[in-house]
Amino acid sequence: MKKVFLTGCDEYDRATLRKKIETGLADIGIAPDDFKNARVALKPNLLNASPVEKAVVTHPEFFRALVDTVKSYGGAPVLVESPAFQSLEKVVSKTGYDAIIRDERIPVWNNRDTVVAHNPSARKYRRFEIAAPLADADIIINLPKFKTHEITYITAAVKNLFGVIPGLNKSQWHVRAKTKSEFSEFLLDLYGAIMSEFSASKKIVHIADAVIGMEGAGPGASGTPRHIGAIVAGVDAIAVDFVLAAIVGIDSAKVTTITSGAARGLGSASFDDIDICGGRISDFSIKGFQPPKTGIADVVKNWSLERDIMKNLLVERPFPVEGTCTLCYQCKKICPVGAIGMADAPRRVPLYDYSKCIRCYCCMEICPEAAIRLKRGKLQWLMDRA
Ligand code: SF4
Ligand code: SF4
Repeated sequence: MKKVFLTGCDEYDRATLRKKIETGLADIGIAPDDFKNARVALKPNLLNASPVEKAVVTHPEFFRALVDTVKSYGGAPVLVESPAFQSLEKVVSKTGYDAIIRDERIPVWNNRDTVVAHNPSARKYRRFEIAAPLADADIIINLPKFKTHEITYITAAVKNLFGVIPGLNKSQWHVRAKTKSEFSEFLLDLYGAIMSEFSASKKIVHIADAVIGMEGAGPGASGTPRHIGAIVAGVDAIAVDFVLAAIVGIDSAKVTTITSGAARGLGSASFDDIDICGGRISDFSIKGFQPPKTGIADVVKNWSLERDIMKNLLVERPFPVEGTCTLCYQCKKICPVGAIGMADAPRRVPLYDYSKCIRCYCCMEICPEAAIRLKRGKLQWLMDRA
């Protein structure tokens, strides 16, 4: 049985968070002594420079509580994160992490030094360049923010580890694994590589910030913050994600990283195999949680993404909204296939080339103004009737 710790938590109060996190660590078998003189890599979700109240990033007080715990147990934390496009300096400054890093003198990964992690059991991708501090650490603590995600349905423990790949390299993975299912399988290959390289020599822990999560058009500023009031922890990322999905009523069968992760033997996705400690799923009454709006069978979308004409008819495309867009062109810079150009006056929004667009939605994720919406393909109504 895999242990997953689940507890209620309604506020980002430093002392409260620390107490609950320490209880959770003990419950899943991580002892204070494990931290003595240990180098501890902390991997929050710092997707972009969104204000904390937008619930895009792991709350800074959540991170601070972990720092308090690690230090009080005798460990030395290091921050490992690499936003896809914006500089980490900008993101930590906007999200309040900068004060914690400064006050607690926390070393930060320089986004350059990497090591290679191999996954001999990968379905497709066997080699990854990832953050070097993971190899140097004695303990890896993954601190995802629980959110919806337009590609992977949810983002939590498995998806958050995408951030150990340096900056713009992430966009290239979207090009290589361009359908939704391919991208989820790629994430599992990456997770498998991290486990294969490190699980024998280090403790790897996942502690999810689901105090305020995100619903709707996540994971960026277009999503809607939603009070969930939970902290979920475990050493099995698949099981942690499975429990997170359950407390908000998401059908885990729709989350490929959960279903395929369990099928591959990377973790547990069944209440028969998971021992939930701390609280119960039924303690949470999250009604009407809004999943990402997919609106069409993913299998059709994946098929359509391989075919340019069908793609434009059957898959939602991102489009920038005039009046909200500030023409900052962050979307243009992050687009992995060069599908976004300068505004074509008099329109005051970037110009999209939908024949090139691979629907990775990186532009939506990065847009600081939540100015990018999804427009349905002209024939998507057919799928709704199917
Ligand atoms: S759509 Fe968003 S990211 Fe792109 S230029 Fe406009 S404000 Fe910037
Ligand atoms: S336009 Fe947006 S969704 Fe399309 S490929 Fe570029 S970043 Fe991805």
